[in-house]
Amino acid sequence: MAQLSDDCFAFGGPMMAVDEAVAIIASRLRAVAETETVGLTEADGRILAVDVAAPLPLPPFMNSAVDGYAVPAGDLPRDRERPFPIGGRVQAGAAAPALRPGHAVRIFTGAPMPAGTDTVFMQEDVRIDDTGRVVLPPGLKAGANVRPAGEDIPQGHVALKAGRRLRPQDVAVAAAFGLTMLDVVRRLRVGVFSTGDELTSPGAERAEAQLFDSNRFMLMAMLRRLGCEVGDLGILRDEKSALARALKVAAARHDLILTTGGVSTGEEDHVRTAVESVGSLVLWRMAIKPGRPVAMGIIDGTPLIGLPGNPVASFVTFVHVVRPAVLALSGATPAPLLPMPVRAAFGYKKKLGRREYVRASLREAADGTLEAVKFAREGAGLLSSLVDTDGLIELGESIVRVEPGDQVGFLGYAELL
Ligand code: AMP
Ligand code: MG
Repeated sequence: MAQLSDDCFAFGGPMMAVDEAVAIIASRLRAVAETETVGLTEADGRILAVDVAAPLPLPPFMNSAVDGYAVPAGDLPRDRERPFPIGGRVQAGAAAPALRPGHAVRIFTGAPMPAGTDTVFMQEDVRIDDTGRVVLPPGLKAGANVRPAGEDIPQGHVALKAGRRLRPQDVAVAAAFGLTMLDVVRRLRVGVFSTGDELTSPGAERAEAQLFDSNRFMLMAMLRRLGCEVGDLGILRDEKSALARALKVAAARHDLILTTGGVSTGEEDHVRTAVESVGSLVLWRMAIKPGRPVAMGIIDGTPLIGLPGNPVASFVTFVHVVRPAVLALSGATPAPLLPMPVRAAFGYKKKLGRREYVRASLREAADGTLEAVKFAREGAGLLSSLVDTDGLIELGESIVRVEPGDQVGFLGYAELL
C-alpha cells in the first residue's frame, strides 16, 4: 500500500499509449483552411500554404566560386605549367567580357563566367610572370571552381512544400527567387484557461493559500513559439457549471481551447465533466509521466485539450500532445521529435507500458561524448526542474530500467518548440 499511496498512477484502469492518443486526437482535427499573404519579413515561423517552385534557377547564371582566372577546359595545361596573357577582367555584378582565344580572364567570386570559359584557377594557385602573363599549373579538373546555373536549385523545382513551417533559411530561398510575399495559413487562434481556486494572477492579491498562476504564462509562450495567436482567458474557478459556460463561449471564438488543471479524478476536478456537459469527450488519461490526466474533447466543433495542473506535467504534455495537435490544426506537415542519443549518467526504474520523461542536463564526459545528468528530484510540481535542465530524456513504453552508461534519447528544450 505504501507504494500505491506514493504513486500518482495508482488508480486502476488501462491507459492509452501516447502515440495512440495523439493519433486519435489528430483524426479529430481539421486543419485551418484560411490563408493570408505576408511579406518576407513576417514569414518566419509561419506555415506555408502553397508549394513554392523556383521561378528561376539558382544560381541564375554560371559564375565563379573563387577569385582567380577563367579559361576554357580545352586550354587547361596538361603536363606542365603554361603562361596565358590576361584578356579582360570581370567582377561580381558586371557583364562578362568576350573571351579572346588563348587568353585567361581575371575573374572574381560571383562574377559571370565569360562565354566559352568553364574552369577557374584560384588566384592562390597561379603566379604572374615578368611579362604580366598568368602562369597556370597543370592538373586542374575541367569545370573546377565554377557554380553552374541551377546547381543549387533548378528552375521549376519545388523548393518549399506547402505545410512547411518556415525557417530563416526558407525565407532566404524565397528572397533568392525574387519573391516579396508568401501565402501562409492564417494563425491558429488558441484560448488558454487556467483552472483552480488556489490560483491568482501575477499582479493581483495573493491570499495565504494561493499560488500565482504560472502555467498559463508558460503555455501562452509555448503557443506563441508555435506561431499561434493566443487568447488569454484567465483563471476559472473549480466549479463545473461556470467552467462549462466559459468553455462554450471560448469554443465559439477559437480554433483550439487549452486548459490546465482540474482534469484529474479528484472531487474538485471539473474540466472533464464540464466538457461532457457542453460537448463530447474524445479521450481522457494517457500512459505518460509526468502527465497522465490529459483530456481531449470537442465543444461545438472546436477541439479542447485539458492538461494537468502540475507545471512539469503541463509542460511535458504540451510538448507531446498539444504541439502535434497545434501543428496539425495549422496545416503543418507532421514533424516528429527525434531524440538525440546520449549516454545516461544516472540509473532509473520505470513502469512497463508507460512513457516517461526525465528532466536532464547534458555535459561532456571524460571521453568527450555527451552524457545526460538527471535532475536530482522528480516532483511534477518543480518548476526549478525545468529551469535548471537542458531537456527531457524520453524513456519509451518498453523500458523498465536505465543503468548508468545506457544509451537514452534526449530532446533539448530548444528543439521542442
Ligand atoms: P490539478 O491538476 O488541478 O489537480 O493541480 C495539480 C497541482 O498543480 C496543484 O498543486 C495545483 O495547485 C497546481 N496547479 C494547477 N494549476 C496551476 C497553474 N496554472 N499554475 C501553477 N500551478 C498550478
Ligand atoms: Mg485544480
